[in-house]
Amino acid sequence: MQQGDDTYILSLDQGTTSSRAIVFNRTGNIMGNRQKPFTQIFPKPGWVEHDPMEIWKTQLESAREAIELAQITPRQIAAIGISNQRETTILWEKATGKPVYNAIVWQCRRSTAICEELTALGFEDFFRERTGLVIDPYFSGTKLVWLFDEVPELKTRAERGELLFGTVDSWLIYNLTGRHATDATNASRTLLFNIHTGRWDEDILNLLHIPPCVLPEVLPSSHVFGNTKKEIFGIEIPVAGAAGDQQASLFGHACFEPGSAKNTYGTGCFTLLNTGKVPIVSRHNLVTTIAWDLGDGGFTYALEGSVFIAGAVIQWLRDQLGIIADAAESEALARSVPDTGGVFIVPAFVGMGAPYWDADMRGTMVGITRGTSRAHIVRAALESIAYQSNDLLEAMVKDYGKPISFIKADGGASANSFLMQFQADILNRPVILPEVNEITALGAAYLAGLKVGYWESLEEIAKNWRRKREFEPDMPASKRDVLLEKWKKAIESAVVFK
Ligand code: ADP
Repeated sequence: MQQGDDTYILSLDQGTTSSRAIVFNRTGNIMGNRQKPFTQIFPKPGWVEHDPMEIWKTQLESAREAIELAQITPRQIAAIGISNQRETTILWEKATGKPVYNAIVWQCRRSTAICEELTALGFEDFFRERTGLVIDPYFSGTKLVWLFDEVPELKTRAERGELLFGTVDSWLIYNLTGRHATDATNASRTLLFNIHTGRWDEDILNLLHIPPCVLPEVLPSSHVFGNTKKEIFGIEIPVAGAAGDQQASLFGHACFEPGSAKNTYGTGCFTLLNTGKVPIVSRHNLVTTIAWDLGDGGFTYALEGSVFIAGAVIQWLRDQLGIIADAAESEALARSVPDTGGVFIVPAFVGMGAPYWDADMRGTMVGITRGTSRAHIVRAALESIAYQSNDLLEAMVKDYGKPISFIKADGGASANSFLMQFQADILNRPVILPEVNEITALGAAYLAGLKVGYWESLEEIAKNWRRKREFEPDMPASKRDVLLEKWKKAIESAVVFK
């Protein structure tokens, strides 16, 4: 363990479109940051794959370059933490470590038929009770079933114990240390893991015909998974933390207390609420997931909901409608009008996620008049992000049964102060922005640093959390009620139109 002030934590943030590595210091500041994009493979409509070797290569290169940029040596890295795109499914050879198929990415819908069959057979409650999840191609389990069904040779080889399965954390841990392991948060996204017992669920494995020998060992999120092989950085460095990206972000925001929540405003939005040591099974179509396991006895759980189209509606304004030149321009345009002039946009481009879960809904724009301008449309698009997030939070409050007093925000679109203020107004709760926007990577660094004593306690980490800005709600209740009523009508009109 290195305790001098010249030591750092290296965080690997393996995302859907790029692999990033960030070197953090003790106060959580960024010393070096490197990002490498990699190839998106679309073999058919609705299918998405990545090359696992390219994931590993770009991750390793960005790690080495981030260390260089920070002007430090690997010896000064006290530990490595990993945060990763979740659910993405990789299968590789035990003997050689070579992938036997491309990574099937979380977005990939190829296992839709398998999910429909399981749903038709009435397994929805069974999966929800055991795994906290809904039956959807999004989660890893049915991706693995697809591989075994469609490539029978893989199934035979898996049964002979020749193949290993893992999500991206597991793939990186394996390549870094040689150990076949995953952390509990990633396991909780597979549809195979029992979030109550903390074990792979035997009944589910039997139902889906998955040989247990392919599965990784499930370890805490803050845990020494192993040391890096010497040839990687020239010395051995402990890999001491791992968590799925959204859970890492909740941790990075220091949402340690039950009732604390964060929303990440990226392409979509991901809201997670820490519900403490007891899992809450959602009655409002949210999913229950493991927030983290600090190895101190018992999981911390979260309720999670996602908005499919958030920042993506701004991309649509830019790329499809051509009414803005870049995303940042949306802020000044939205502010150039006092309101949307009665316009509401429901960006149900790919159906709606929680709490509606309606795959067939399509987008609508209602309330337009002769006076509707580009500024009104841009403002309505930004406001739609806030309304959808509010819907999620309302569902969470109902499931949780206790108040949620504020939310912490991060992600690309959280740079838009108009949006953040409108979000605070509509939620009627403060929205707080952290100083460090790379909160996901920071969360993984915290998990690793906590394990090796780089940070002593959650209290110390919480003290490290610094706010950049807080947006206070500033809208009369009467106005908010009218707007929310109209938003509901806009949603109804999208439902009617489908
Ligand atoms: P992801 O991690 O999902 O790729 P990011 O966190 O990088 O997303 O955020 C990118 C998204 O944020 C894009 O959809 C973009 O349209 C949106 N975005 C970026 N800046 C702004 C802004 N100033 N106002 C509104 N949306 C923005």
